[in-house]
Amino acid sequence: MATLTHAAASIKSITTQYIDGAFVESHGRQVTDIIRPIDGQLIARVTLGDEEDTRRAIDAAKRAFTTYGRSTPDERAKILRRLHEAAAARVDDLTSAMIEEYGGVAQFAGLIVQSGVIAFAAAEQALQEMPWTRRWDKTTVTLEPVGVAGLITAWNANALFMCLKLASAVAAGCTVVIKPSELSSLQARVLVEALHEADLPKGLLNVVTGAGSVVGAELVRNPDVAKISFTGSVAVGETIMRDGAATMKRVTLELGGKSPTIMLEDAALDEAIPSALTMAFLNSGQACAAGTRLLVPKSRLDAVKAAIRETMRTFRVGDPADPKTAVGPMVSQKQYERVQSYIRKGIEEGAEVLVGGEGHPEGLDEGFFVKPTVFVNVKNDMTIAQEEIFGPVLSVIAYESEDDAIRLANDSKYGLHAAVIGTDLTRARRVASQLRAGRVVINNLTDDPQAPWGGFKFSGVGREYGRYGIEAFLETRAILES
Ligand code: NAD
Repeated sequence: MATLTHAAASIKSITTQYIDGAFVESHGRQVTDIIRPIDGQLIARVTLGDEEDTRRAIDAAKRAFTTYGRSTPDERAKILRRLHEAAAARVDDLTSAMIEEYGGVAQFAGLIVQSGVIAFAAAEQALQEMPWTRRWDKTTVTLEPVGVAGLITAWNANALFMCLKLASAVAAGCTVVIKPSELSSLQARVLVEALHEADLPKGLLNVVTGAGSVVGAELVRNPDVAKISFTGSVAVGETIMRDGAATMKRVTLELGGKSPTIMLEDAALDEAIPSALTMAFLNSGQACAAGTRLLVPKSRLDAVKAAIRETMRTFRVGDPADPKTAVGPMVSQKQYERVQSYIRKGIEEGAEVLVGGEGHPEGLDEGFFVKPTVFVNVKNDMTIAQEEIFGPVLSVIAYESEDDAIRLANDSKYGLHAAVIGTDLTRARRVASQLRAGRVVINNLTDDPQAPWGGFKFSGVGREYGRYGIEAFLETRAILES
């Protein structure tokens, strides 16, 4: 276990919102505390925006849309380049804020921030390749920005979500109001300060931090907002889809997951198990894409158990700022308790704890640390195999045959991400092609900023990244001459 070395931080205070190109005092008066997950200490107080702040931000975005909505792809490409430079200049500050504010481990936080920065360059590239205007005979078809977009983010990779959604919207010609997660106020502030340096047209980017039920709900209900792009839980996603219908909102919903990792019979255990565990404990298990169901051939179960025990010895739990740490604290006391309740549920339902279990890891009694836990003897219909826990809890499930593995992988309300691990690539591809998930990786976690991201089933509606992400902010118009 790593020793925690953080000094007590001075308490920060944020009282402003970013509206119409300037930081302005919040109209909302409610204040929320930001608690540091490694030790439960108060590190910041943030004034939450209200409906009035949100409406001011929407008005600014609406005014800006009258000109920005008619910008050319070249003009947008220049803005994306400036956004890229501005975000890149603050990579270290953004990473530190993620580590401190929600205990994101340095290994993951660094990658997430880089992905956010890259999103601007990737959107610029995708924009250059899009068919903005197509003509045949007397018909002209153009791709038009949908209008003002409300971008609502989850806390767990907030900087990436803000950059990704903003990049796609800007590439499409939309103006935006971002509502970052209230649990991510510090990182959101560092990012907005960075993006302010990009010298954007006034009103193109507005950011109102506040409660989902206040600021988020106003964005969803307001008739001047044409599109909502949301990353978060299924429960809130359902609310957005339902409430957004009243103003016929276009919606992109990036929701939860219970992602399967299928280890094929020919997988080399010394590579397969570290890869599977890395995917399971991604961002301390607080990742939508975390591979929290590991499907293994029954014939290799004993060897798999031994390999998991061995590999888990190398998974360090502790200070998220230490680059060697694999699993940090949960984001909040509430999330700590949620994970504990699922571990208890797993035991009650008859699964066997192979590694970990209830309570704090030894020597880490302060803060919201949990023990990374691996269950074996799990049946796919158990609660721990069906529900998204959002913590470092892995269920190992034995399968009889390739068809059985595919059936089990698809037997989930979710369909966001999946992995297939094996040495015969033809076989791995065959299995991958039968999985009902928006993204399937073969052998290791990997990313491609031009490849679509999004879910089947309850994992969401629509796609982000590259061209697919930009399309989500567009309408198609045809002009026909007689
Ligand atoms: P959450 O749904 O609680 O909150 C997400 C955002 O929605 C926050 O900004 C919140 O303030 C806002 N919100 C809450 N109520 C709202 C309302 N009524 N109207 C509008 N907005 C509202 O989710 P969370 O705890 O921040 O994030 C964890 C969840 O996000 C997990 O389920 C995870 O799987 C999912 N997630 C999905 C992806 C993906 O790409 N598919 C990525 C990361 C996280």
